[in-house]
Amino acid sequence: MKVKCPTCQKETEWSERNPYRPFCCERCKLIDLGGWASGENAIPGEPDFSQQEDDNEGNHSLH
Ligand SMILES: [Zn+2]
Repeated sequence: MKVKCPTCQKETEWSERNPYRPFCCERCKLIDLGGWASGENAIPGEPDFSQQEDDNEGNHSLH
């Protein structure tokens, strides 16, 4: 059975031999589990709403 890796959209085999299913590899699994926070892999067309609202006030001098 083939599935599409949620991270890179590559077709990969859903089998017990693939411990990272439904991802194609360990890297894609890690990315999906929070790798986006690194900022290196922004999702096109997907606005990042994470913790922007809370930091707007009282944080100006910390930059
Ligand atoms: Zn992948």
